[in-house]
Amino acid sequence: MKILFVSSEVHPFSKTGGLADVSAGLPIALTKLGHDVRIITPAYKSALEKVKALKMRLKKHEYSSYRILIGNLPKTRTPVYFLDMPELFHRNGNPYGSELGIDWPDNAMRFNTLSTVAIKMAMDTLELDWKPDVVHCNDWQTGLIPARLSQLEAPPATVFTIHNMAYIGLFSRLVFNHLQLPEKWWDWNLLEFHDQFSFLKAGILFADQITTVSPTYAEEIQSLEYGYGLEGVLGARADRLSGILNGIDFQEWNPARDKYLATNYTSQTLDLKTENKTFLQREMGLSENPNTLLIGMIGRMIEQKGYDLVANVLPNILLNDIQVVILGSGDKTLERQLLALQQEFPQKMRVIVRYDEALAHQIEAGADIFLMPSRFEPCGLNQLYSLRYGTLPVVHHTGGLADSVVDIDAQSLSQQTANGFKFYTPNGKALFDTLNRAIELYADQTTWQQIQQNGMALDSSWSNSAQKYINVYQKAIECQELKI
Ligand code: ADP
Repeated sequence: MKILFVSSEVHPFSKTGGLADVSAGLPIALTKLGHDVRIITPAYKSALEKVKALKMRLKKHEYSSYRILIGNLPKTRTPVYFLDMPELFHRNGNPYGSELGIDWPDNAMRFNTLSTVAIKMAMDTLELDWKPDVVHCNDWQTGLIPARLSQLEAPPATVFTIHNMAYIGLFSRLVFNHLQLPEKWWDWNLLEFHDQFSFLKAGILFADQITTVSPTYAEEIQSLEYGYGLEGVLGARADRLSGILNGIDFQEWNPARDKYLATNYTSQTLDLKTENKTFLQREMGLSENPNTLLIGMIGRMIEQKGYDLVANVLPNILLNDIQVVILGSGDKTLERQLLALQQEFPQKMRVIVRYDEALAHQIEAGADIFLMPSRFEPCGLNQLYSLRYGTLPVVHHTGGLADSVVDIDAQSLSQQTANGFKFYTPNGKALFDTLNRAIELYADQTTWQQIQQNGMALDSSWSNSAQKYINVYQKAIECQELKI
């Protein structure tokens, strides 16, 4: 199958979140399955710097107002087509905004341009001699692609993936006019959304198939609570909507080979995990004791991730023989709140406010419990890393956390599916009770190790999820054929 994968961020060239990881992991897995996948993404200034650092040689295609630069994802056969348009993409800052975190005022124009060029590639009008069967679009930045393609003669099928409903790509009537979208689309049944219009809504309405990054999130986004006003539109297209859990990079996140760890280990040599715990305790300046239960937490410090709940329950939890290591940055109030707690419990708690890839790996390996009490979580990666590292996740039952973590009870224990702890209401009491359950079970090391083994045996590799995407692509092609 020939697949054009359109994304506004692709690891390692650009990244603000999980989308970048998916945009590399999934195409690589699809290539390995024998499919012809090509990625198109903007040539941001920082992406071109990365290309240079990696000493990549790019093929150039010149067009009237832009260039396309072609290379491969590092160490793979998967091609990446960089859309090079300096006036839109050569800027300091991240893909969507300035270094101060302010969105670029011309974002609609920037991603409309990416979409227009992707459509040309999809229709094989760029003299690249390649026409995909499916165009896989990701998040609001690519939402206009299915819409605009629907107006053309014999377009490829389209799949639209929602990585986070919180970003719906809202713009004004003025922008709508400027982009020269068909007047009939200014209708609340179509792109209009409360006197503005939404790129995400366009993707949802016009794609042949819609996916999101976990089966539970696919259900949740059809509800008032998680739908951001688009729950009705999603509900109306529920027969086209499905959820596929993201995979993880099995090379990068592998305790047997992880280059950041003090000691590598497998499910057969779990006792070596303890050496990673004492290493982490030493590095963090905490007392080195292999029997003290160590709780780890990593992630963007925002309310979505439940840090405020953690700050509320920790004073009571830390009355036990427990240590906590938190790595993350974001909301300044939350950062201050957690740093204040660290001052209150200097022997037991460390809060590291920065982005630190190596430390993230060391926490995953060194902790006994990984805390992820997110209010909502489309998929989540850290709980998947934790499972692979034999670190039991404590999570709120939502989105991808609900789909990957199996709570410990008599039945899941006997079926050997139990792999972590869940709570069902995102409040301090539920989190406190669940942490206490985990603390209690830690005393029973035989059961604990069985649960570690269950988690480590899960296959959360991309090859598993990629096959599910192929099924969705096939469905999209069938839907497309029915339209003709
Ligand atoms: P989200 O995409 O909402 O940020 P995910 O759990 O899906 O959450 O993915 C977050 C990724 O970013 C994970 O790989 C996580 O380890 C990493 N990460 C987040 N914050 C930090 C940090 N401060 N240091 C290192 N890695 C981090």
